[in-house]
Amino acid sequence: LDLYQVPAWGKHYFGINAAGNVVVRPDGDSAHEIDLREVVEGLKARDLTAPVVVRFSDILKHRLQRLHGAFAQAISENDYKNRYCAVFPIKVNQQRLVVEEVYRYGKEFSFGLEAGSKPELLAVMALTEDAPDRMIVCNGFKDDSYIEAVILATKLGRTIIPVIENFEELALVLKHSQKYQVRPRIGVRVKLASEGAGRWRDSAGEKSKFGLFVSEILELVKTLREHDMLDCLELVHCHPGSQLQDIRRVKDAINELAHVYAELRLMGAGLKYIDVGGGLGVDYDGSGTNFESSMNYTMNEYASDVVYRIASVCNARGIEHPVIVSESGRATTAHHSVLIFNALGSSALDQFRVTGRVEEDYTGEEELPQPVADLFVAYRSVSERRLVECYHDAVQAREQVLQMFNLGLLSLEFRGLAERLYWATCARIRDYCRKLDNAPEELEGLELILSDTYFCNFSVFQSLPDSWAIDQLFPIMPIHRLNEKPTRNGVLADITCDSDGKIDRFVSHRDVKRTLELHELRPGEEYYLAAFLVGAYQETLGDLHNLFGDTHVVHIRLHDEGGWWIEEIVKGDTAGKVLSYMQYDVDRLFPQFARDCERAVREGRMTLQESQALRRFYEWELAGYTYLEGE
Ligand code: PLP
Repeated sequence: LDLYQVPAWGKHYFGINAAGNVVVRPDGDSAHEIDLREVVEGLKARDLTAPVVVRFSDILKHRLQRLHGAFAQAISENDYKNRYCAVFPIKVNQQRLVVEEVYRYGKEFSFGLEAGSKPELLAVMALTEDAPDRMIVCNGFKDDSYIEAVILATKLGRTIIPVIENFEELALVLKHSQKYQVRPRIGVRVKLASEGAGRWRDSAGEKSKFGLFVSEILELVKTLREHDMLDCLELVHCHPGSQLQDIRRVKDAINELAHVYAELRLMGAGLKYIDVGGGLGVDYDGSGTNFESSMNYTMNEYASDVVYRIASVCNARGIEHPVIVSESGRATTAHHSVLIFNALGSSALDQFRVTGRVEEDYTGEEELPQPVADLFVAYRSVSERRLVECYHDAVQAREQVLQMFNLGLLSLEFRGLAERLYWATCARIRDYCRKLDNAPEELEGLELILSDTYFCNFSVFQSLPDSWAIDQLFPIMPIHRLNEKPTRNGVLADITCDSDGKIDRFVSHRDVKRTLELHELRPGEEYYLAAFLVGAYQETLGDLHNLFGDTHVVHIRLHDEGGWWIEEIVKGDTAGKVLSYMQYDVDRLFPQFARDCERAVREGRMTLQESQALRRFYEWELAGYTYLEGE
């Protein structure tokens, strides 16, 4: 089924097998397929119910290899005389297991890590204990103690580079270098004039939050020279914005940065590294265009452009080629995580049926009020030639029904009948529209209005925050029954009590579609869906709306002898844990509640068995998952 565009966004990692289930190919090889439905059953057998984030460590490894491979090829094609080094910005996914895996898989390429805050620095400094030569780049706001720690880490032997993001940080670097007699490695972030594009366009350009203006950089050079430390300036950095959708932005930014690099090198700075920041995109909708959720270039093209631009500028200025550093976070981690969740039920507006004869639908004594009778006529008159006309008639009659009801002139029974007639009329009109090549514009919205709502066991705010906050598209689809034609169209609603907790924008072969093709739910049978490419930014940006906590996370690996195995299980938050985040004293909650149950028994409001059942529920749920777990 090509309804969900799997080959387009799934690259080589996702596909559909003969059984109609989604498969994952963690190393991009179709010989190694993991059936997602099978994974869900395997997790269930281990008492891990949906929602669950499944991380495929082998995808992470494959992405790092791909990144290295793309730059290696570009380096050889452009006769580039230095190497490439990725530093993983841990803000993209700070989970210990993810960072450790990136660090481990990046070892053969000497990839490093990037920290953007003090807590991130603490994590990164400890992790690099075994390999002090692996690069640590420090971005973000830095205070006195941050810089002091960086200078001391240099003394410890780490290859650590604080990037000066605003001028005040330079004074702190100088102060602590003198105090501890260290010659630090220093980086500087350039405020590029070439603006970014897309959602994160403000990361670059003159109004960007971080970076030094060229005049400030000149001042920095002067100050370093005065302190005989110009050789310490080893890195220039820019970040042209995340998810760059248009390759032209990449070219412009790198070109500008390379010229700044060359100028500074010729002024005597000890530059060795050029850090092109993040921005390498992920094709979330698979369209390969410059839509916000896509990108009009490949990883190879990106690498080739970066290497080519830097090489040409350096060659023209007669300077050595620097080590090329990139901080590609999204492109490294997005593919490796999949969020799986189950549908809890659905509601449908187009299932109001009208038999066609007034007598069968209305058996009351009273005569039909005029607008209700009009709705009957509108319903019966729907035909291909009169679609818009019948729609107008139905809308008007419905408005009159509501007016009469609000004046006390119409019974609830008639209002209910009018409601059924209205939706049934709309559904008939929509069914005709589906058969037309060009449906009337006014009726285009009917598909969305009449779509089903599938209630799903997850929180958008916790698990897909970018979908809610910035309308980020993620590929979402059922993970089974895919050799069965879906007969429903729906939007997804999460289990938070918030009307924003829904998803009604989906990947389509042309632009975005507002409803998703879904299968009819079968009583007593689970229906599982998954959101793909969720490994970047979603986990830590997620929040505790309605106190839905972290979902379970499992790490799945390919087995050398075929098949898969679970390497790690991280259980999701319990209700007790999220309550403690909110400063509830969880140890006191249960005794407090239990006392009340005892009192109810003593006062005869409850039997002992009832009170015990309630106490057991309370105690059990405090230690239980925050999501719905079924029977
Ligand atoms: N480097 C810096 C300084 C950033 O601010 C960011 C994120 O916005 C990144 C790297 C990661 O960017 P991306 O995930 O697009 O690769």
